[in-house]
Amino acid sequence: MSRRGAKPDRIEPGVAYTSKEELHPRFGYAVPKTQVAYVRKDLPNCVKKFVLEHELYHLRDKARSWFWREIKANTVSALKHPLGFTLCLFLSLSPSRLRYYARRIKRGE
Ligand SMILES: [Zn+2]
Repeated sequence: MSRRGAKPDRIEPGVAYTSKEELHPRFGYAVPKTQVAYVRKDLPNCVKKFVLEHELYHLRDKARSWFWREIKANTVSALKHPLGFTLCLFLSLSPSRLRYYARRIKRGE
């Protein structure tokens, strides 16, 4: 409930678990404008928890540099879900994930 003259209440983030086909090669995706975090439902549970934490962090982060946003989201999420982070690193060694990272680095996004 918002009070008169106060800032509108913050939108509660939503979570959508989606198929691999919808997000591949991504494991997750955050849309700050709509406050929705998308997470692949086929991932192992500990990785889903890590990815969800990562995407929720992106929803509230205001940093402009994509590289700095990723460092912060990964650090915060890895501290909360170290096993999910570690397994996520191993899963990210696939050729499709490595190509995805190379494209992001090249485009700076
Ligand atoms: Zn990210």
